[in-house]
Amino acid sequence: MVGDVPVGGGAPISVQSMTTTKTADVDATLSQVYALRGAGADIVRITCNDIEAAQGLAEIIPRSPVPIIADIHYQYRLALAALEAGVAGLRLNPGNIRKEEHIKTVARAAADAGVSIRVGVNAGSLDKDLLEEFGSAVPEALVRSALQEIRYLEDVGFHDIKISVKHSSVPRMVESYRLLAERVEYPLHLGVTEAGTPPGGLIKSVAGIGTLLLEGIGDTIRFSLTADPVEEAKAGRQLLEYLGLRERTGLDLIACPSCGRADVDVIKVAEEATAALEAANLPIQVAIMGCIVNGPGEAREADIGIAAGRGKGHLFIKGQVVRVVAEDDMVAALLDEATRLVEEGVEARLAAADVTAADLAEEARIELLDLQGDANRAAERRATVADVASGDQG
Ligand code: SF4
Repeated sequence: MVGDVPVGGGAPISVQSMTTTKTADVDATLSQVYALRGAGADIVRITCNDIEAAQGLAEIIPRSPVPIIADIHYQYRLALAALEAGVAGLRLNPGNIRKEEHIKTVARAAADAGVSIRVGVNAGSLDKDLLEEFGSAVPEALVRSALQEIRYLEDVGFHDIKISVKHSSVPRMVESYRLLAERVEYPLHLGVTEAGTPPGGLIKSVAGIGTLLLEGIGDTIRFSLTADPVEEAKAGRQLLEYLGLRERTGLDLIACPSCGRADVDVIKVAEEATAALEAANLPIQVAIMGCIVNGPGEAREADIGIAAGRGKGHLFIKGQVVRVVAEDDMVAALLDEATRLVEEGVEARLAAADVTAADLAEEARIELLDLQGDANRAAERRATVADVASGDQG
């Protein structure tokens, strides 16, 4: 447990992020903690890098909406101070708190306080003896560092542990966690360290964390982006939702990439729709499709969607066209229908469909096919398929 958040043992994968404010600035830090909570963070880590920071934690923790983990480097006494301040978890870096007796002192105090410890190995700050032995921060070196630290904790009967072996190289990060997962039963905290600015940082994090989660490795995650930490929390939460590992709480927008058939500026409509729907905070999957020819069919899995065609927007629910609106009203109509859908449910909204909408959509589809041609040559192929089946192809 990290406070009231279970980690590991089949618990939902949790999202973590870290504040960027000075911890001594209690109000600024708390306001960031609240923003992170709002963006999807279940647990927030805060640096405890000096006495003022530890004192700040004492004021922040009782007012925080989520469990707080103190990030500790170099000075084991600050871990003891953070425990005194009431943290729910400690992150210890084995690369820079290296004395066995210091680590054991912290573990005993954490056990007394009922607080968990993350053994947070980082390739950039690996124990210098291991760096020398292995030549560089290879996966085996990261895992060895973690196992060594765990031994110290277990020696004093401490088992409330989670572990991370973060690397800035995605292949090395993935390999490190795979190796670690073979060796320990403890929950794992996943992350690509120093991933950088978006979009590169997002891609690295998704590649590393997503790969491992799909292999069943990982219990809690953090995107380490050089960006507003709210972006980290949001991305972490979205990844879990897209992988089906957490329930959807926000918008999942799917949009066609657009092509020569598109009858509207799909990118512009998708951006406008995203802004409107995110502001309304609706937990549904919405599709924005560029044409009526393929749109409703291709997006039939979506809760709701809109497809453009012949100056109109064709609004559909679960692939069935329910309303036809002017192209300029597409986004407003989508927002209106999405709101009703969340309030009233699919059955009720399908029952309230405009009965002429499906016919209008079919007319527009045929008209577009006539104008643009049947790109898939479906009609022609139907005939040849029938010929082949009946042996009439000569
Ligand atoms: S939905 Fe229409 S516009 Fe969008 S990619 Fe498919 S065929 Fe092209």
